Amino acid sequence: MHDLIIIGAGPAGLTAALYAGRSRMNTLIIEKMSCGGRILMSESIENYPGFPGGVSTSELISRMEGQVRELGVEIKSDEVLDLDCGKKAVTAAGGTYAAKTIIVASGARPRKLDVPGEKELTGRGVSYCATCDAPFFKGKKVVLVGGGNAVAEEALYISRFASSVSVVHRRQELRASAILQEKMRKEEKISFILNSRLTGIEGEKSVKGVKIKDALTGKENILPCDGVFIYIGYEPETAFLKGKVGMDEAGFIITDDSMATSAEGVFACGDCRKKSLYQVINACGDGAVAADSAYKFTANRSV
Ligand code: NAP
Repeated sequence: MHDLIIIGAGPAGLTAALYAGRSRMNTLIIEKMSCGGRILMSESIENYPGFPGGVSTSELISRMEGQVRELGVEIKSDEVLDLDCGKKAVTAAGGTYAAKTIIVASGARPRKLDVPGEKELTGRGVSYCATCDAPFFKGKKVVLVGGGNAVAEEALYISRFASSVSVVHRRQELRASAILQEKMRKEEKISFILNSRLTGIEGEKSVKGVKIKDALTGKENILPCDGVFIYIGYEPETAFLKGKVGMDEAGFIITDDSMATSAEGVFACGDCRKKSLYQVINACGDGAVAADSAYKFTANRSV
């Protein structure tokens, strides 16, 4: 029996563990992959305070991980399948675990475009992770889909390798921050295909091109390319909690200001919860609040 189980070891879960460890809670983190979560899909982060010029995401995460391990927090590699909110019992692929209180920090995964060829060619030219796959596209033509901060950061990163980077976005305006848009427009390898949708990915053994439909004229063209990177937002990793805590229609967990969910003693933080801004900085903030609330819950103090 642990005092606290944290599900997920991204920035939210690791910060919750840091605060819980410092409160001397006997804490277990369960993470199905390696520490970091979706932040590791980006190479570096430029808007985390204290790092002018940016910091590599792997360095930031390894520092966070080291800090919690120093406090004696155990990190177990296992996939959570179910949570009994009443008993605070976690069923995972490798066993069951129990605690006095639970923090869900399970994060989010990339949303799929759901177009012909996407599934078949994933790993064969279709990717959701520039950090993992950009070096395979040295001197090649790539297409990116999306209009947010992720597509902007990744287009800039991939332009270090690829010969050309075309960004396809369904509207005229990108929603990426102004500073990222300025940087993209300065990079001569990056071009924009706006008011357009990617409607299919061509190729048998590997990507050979994409179908692009102009939203204004309805005309469809084939653009030859070697790779497609998709950045159209994220979906919460909360299927194991469906029907057990309050969620919105997309599956993001609803919490109050103390990160409490609708189930007593179960807290949620980071990208898996419904909020207005999804950044590393406020994922960490969420984690600190969730740990404080979890500590007060176990100490029978009001949250
Ligand atoms: P996002 O900000 O939600 O943007 C998703 C983009 O994909 C939007 O431009 C959207 O178009 C487009 N889109 C959504 N569904 C689509 C579909 N079915 N077909 C075509 N286009 C579609 O997502 P994100 O850029 O992946 O970032 C996710 C979150 O992480 C955001 O909150 C973002 O701010 C944060 N993030 C922050 C940083 C940073 O600050 N350094 C870096 C990366 C990510 P519309 O614009 O038309 O809706």
